[in-house]
Amino acid sequence: MTTDGCVFCRIAARELDASVVLESATVLAFLDADPVTPGHVLVVPRAHLPTLADLDEDIAAEMFLVARSVAGALRQSSLRCDGVNLFYADG
Ligand SMILES: [Zn+2]
Repeated sequence: MTTDGCVFCRIAARELDASVVLESATVLAFLDADPVTPGHVLVVPRAHLPTLADLDEDIAAEMFLVARSVAGALRQSSLRCDGVNLFYADG
C-alpha cells in the first residue's frame, strides 16, 4: 500500500510538524492544523491504513482507546467542552 503524499504518514514519521497530544506504539493523536473547533484532535494509525476495512481489531481498539483518553483530557482541560464528537473518515 503506497504512502506517497499521505500527510498522516508524514506526520507519523515526523517529517511534518504536528502538536502531538498522545501516542502509542500503533496510534498517534495530534491537533488538527485547521481545527473545526478548539480541541479538534485527529487520531490516526501510525501505519498507512486509509480505510476502516484496513484496520485490524487491535489497531481499531487502540484508536478508540486513544480517542477516549483525548476526550477525557479535553473535558478536564481549560477549554470549554460541553461534549465531544467522534467522527471517522473512512477513506
Ligand atoms: Zn498514510
